[in-house]
Amino acid sequence: MRVGIIGGGITGLSCAWYLGKLGIEATVFDPAPGGLIGTITVEGCILETGPESWLAAKPWAEDLIRELGLGDQITGSNDAQRRTFILRGGQFLTLPEGLQMVVPTKALPVLRSKLFGWRTKLQMGLEVLRNPVALPDRSVAEFVRDHFGPEAVEYLAEPLLAGVYGGSPDELSAPSVLPKFVEYEQRYGSVVVGTFRDRRPPSGSSIFNSMRSGVGTLIEELKTRVHITTEKVDSISPGWTLSAGGASHSFDHIVLACGANKSAPLLAELDPSLAELVGSIPYTGSAIWTFGYQRSDVPHPLNAFGFLVPRAERRAMMACTWLGTKWAGRVPEDKAVFRCFSTNPDTPQEAVQRELEELMNIQAEPLFAIGHRWPDSMPQYTVGHSARVEAIETLAAALPGFHLAGNAYRGIGIPDCVRSAKMTAEAIASCDTAL
Ligand SMILES: Cc1cc2nc3c(=O)[nH]c(=O)nc-3n(C[C@H](O)[C@H](O)[C@H](O)COP(=O)(O)OP(=O)(O)OC[C@H]3O[C@@H](n4cnc5c(N)ncnc54)[C@H](O)[C@@H]3O)c2cc1C
Repeated sequence: MRVGIIGGGITGLSCAWYLGKLGIEATVFDPAPGGLIGTITVEGCILETGPESWLAAKPWAEDLIRELGLGDQITGSNDAQRRTFILRGGQFLTLPEGLQMVVPTKALPVLRSKLFGWRTKLQMGLEVLRNPVALPDRSVAEFVRDHFGPEAVEYLAEPLLAGVYGGSPDELSAPSVLPKFVEYEQRYGSVVVGTFRDRRPPSGSSIFNSMRSGVGTLIEELKTRVHITTEKVDSISPGWTLSAGGASHSFDHIVLACGANKSAPLLAELDPSLAELVGSIPYTGSAIWTFGYQRSDVPHPLNAFGFLVPRAERRAMMACTWLGTKWAGRVPEDKAVFRCFSTNPDTPQEAVQRELEELMNIQAEPLFAIGHRWPDSMPQYTVGHSARVEAIETLAAALPGFHLAGNAYRGIGIPDCVRSAKMTAEAIASCDTAL
């Protein structure tokens, strides 16, 4: 059995590796293998071109890393210093301790916080009295406003989700983006009560994990283990034949792991209804600007992981990570590195740098400034997403030997991509038609 995989980001590469483990030959097509993930070293600082970590609670990426023999590379964020600021009125205010995403689990830090007014604090307290209710798909903004008030949308949901989804809480779907909380709403009424009931004893491990020498290490290892053709796939014919680099390649199964937006045109002639549905998943873009300074040029104590900028504060950047504080061993002690995230891929360096230097009170020139622009890179799980994905899966299942994988469907993070890749490899291995 031969499998052709279109797209060699983490999804395509890990799918090929899992297939190889199952004894199935796979070829990955990608003119730029690695996709969004990459690590570079500049002035002794380890920098990520795209993602820098993953949620430790989701095991699939770490399972893969261990299976590849790189388990000793896994490292947690420096949680002794875990604190995040939110910019409000030009000031850095601490995100109250005990927040689980948008859900407060400790009363005192919320009561003391200057981030919210008394009305929000009162609504947060009264939220525990809600009755169970099952509501149709609605936006994150509606959901959070309903439970915790408008200020929690502006100063919690919006900045926290912008960094993960690059999208607006007015459009993102609550059941797709916050499924646990929607389940609590249905079971208990109150998401605070649900979060308490489901609370596990603190494990002592970090919330975010990464790799000591950068997430790119995982990609570099996978690249040595799988067969890659550095060609773009131009078209797909039923049966399955891929046209790439002027040549035709025949396979028993194909996996589209190149993102929904890049998959849709390839499907246009093959199955117009599927192409339309896949193409209806919207995408947003982003830019990462990373600035390095001499530590002595930065007066701030850098005693946090960084800060988030709510849309209401109207800045060019949405988030800034203080890399040397968040990760041990990535930034030499005499340097300070700021990773600035913008949801506009065209954001110019000058705008971000000016803001950063103003907010951090830096008077010196940076040692380096490195930009990575990622247009149309972040699929949006907008209201209706889960119904859309079910319809896509129904149509895809009617095409024997055809598979879709990646971050556009059932999970956006690196672990979700690996999980989707592994499930696809297992589905191919168990497919009767090709055995
Ligand atoms: C700026 C940014 C920061 C992020 N941070 C995090 C984070 O901290 N933690 C986390 O868990 N997730 C993060 N994510 C999400 C995560 O990076 C992605 O979900 C994941 O990397 C997607 O992997 P993928 O393989 O599905 O897609 P991609 O990495 O997008 O790879 C798709 C590949 O398909 C190829 N391709 C496209 N068209 C064709 C074609 N016609 N023929 C052949 N190849 C083609 C492309 O060249 C590309 O290499 C971030 C995303 C972005 C944009």
